[in-house]
Amino acid sequence: MSQNQSRPQERILIKGAYLMTQDDKLGNLLGDVLVADGRILSIGRDLSDDRARVIDGTGSAVLPGFIDTHRHNWQGALRNLGPAWTYQEYRSQVQIGLGQYFRPADVYVGNLAADLMSLDSGVTTVRDESHISNSPEHSDAAIAAHQESGIRAVFDHGWPSTEAEQWQFGSDRTHPDDIRRIRNEVLFDDSARVTLNAMLRGPELSTPLVSEQDIRLARELGLRISMHVGLGEWGAQQQAVRQLEEAGLLASDMTFIHCCTSTDEELRMLAARGATASVAGALEVFMPGLGQPATNRLLAVGIRPSLSVDTETIVSGDMFGVMRATLAYQQLVLAGAAGPMDRTPGLPTFDAADLLSFATIEGARAAGIDDRTGSLTPGKEADLIMIRLDHTNLLPATDAAASIVAGGHAGNVALVVVAGDVLKEDGVLKGGDAVFEEAAASRDRLFHAAGLPLPA
Ligand SMILES: [Zn+2]
Repeated sequence: MSQNQSRPQERILIKGAYLMTQDDKLGNLLGDVLVADGRILSIGRDLSDDRARVIDGTGSAVLPGFIDTHRHNWQGALRNLGPAWTYQEYRSQVQIGLGQYFRPADVYVGNLAADLMSLDSGVTTVRDESHISNSPEHSDAAIAAHQESGIRAVFDHGWPSTEAEQWQFGSDRTHPDDIRRIRNEVLFDDSARVTLNAMLRGPELSTPLVSEQDIRLARELGLRISMHVGLGEWGAQQQAVRQLEEAGLLASDMTFIHCCTSTDEELRMLAARGATASVAGALEVFMPGLGQPATNRLLAVGIRPSLSVDTETIVSGDMFGVMRATLAYQQLVLAGAAGPMDRTPGLPTFDAADLLSFATIEGARAAGIDDRTGSLTPGKEADLIMIRLDHTNLLPATDAAASIVAGGHAGNVALVVVAGDVLKEDGVLKGGDAVFEEAAASRDRLFHAAGLPLPA
């Protein structure tokens, strides 16, 4: 498989939009964006270019695309199955129940369905937390879907969902060795649109010895690491971050997902080592069992978190819902109605503009790709979205950030560009219709294999 599939890169000039650049030096301005050769060439007022196709940005906001720093893309064809599930129900139904029956073709279809809905809702980068490495062919299928969809993807190679119970919570199995093949033969170019990271279980889901061996393997291969920590009571007992700190393994190449029941002391350790965090704000409030979003506690130690969807089996895969749910939980913190870990007086707060930065530039930092994406900065790759503020649901858009966070949805996303490739325009996603029939067929086959009743 070739890593650098060439895709069409248009020369486009977006005129007269409200640019929310997420670049500290540029800030917000009314102006134009010129895209050429897959990159942002210039940002400013009254730009002109004879060769560029002009796109009217009047009445719209242009932002860097959203960056989802943790989604289990393989579950894309199982979306919205259990909005009222608990963590245990999710684990038994999906990871243990269905995961073992996935064929590579199911992984391909799920990943592609997840990528397409992501793009449609303005997500231009997804960090695919792929714990469906049931065979090398399963991982290859996930990567092939990312190559096909055009999204920017950080493929986080994880563990299998066969024998799911043996691979988590005290597992003594080391990370699947196939990650070496993927690194050496498939995703070897760290400047490509699809790159490789390691999704490791760490001391919370494996033994301390396995955790250390896995981390050393990832670093030997030059891969950044993601790790789920602070998962409910188990996370509070294990204190994975403290274990990593004491073992001398905690470092800035790590992104910690959830951190719901990680202690304040552990969050300070993360900050001191320059590690990053991913808050799955919607999933954590919808699904009992993990704990509450750690957003305000992370801010208190100086970490501006990234945001993530997690699993579409429970929550919608768009970042609008994630931003709203994350904000909703903060309002419970402020009202004194939040969980016991959030009773510290004087926790710092965030607003709509902060949420947009969490969903863009902070995501790029967490994924280690902020030199390439995450802001509208000349020289970076052209990953951008245009959101129509003149639609019925947002008019009159008094404050752009507040309007997008409080009222935005995928239907307001008019334009989606990844590395200069226009993937959605005039509100219409290009290609991919066939995948949704295949997704239904995949779901039916999986339900049948698992002995579940088929939907009517
Ligand atoms: Zn997860």
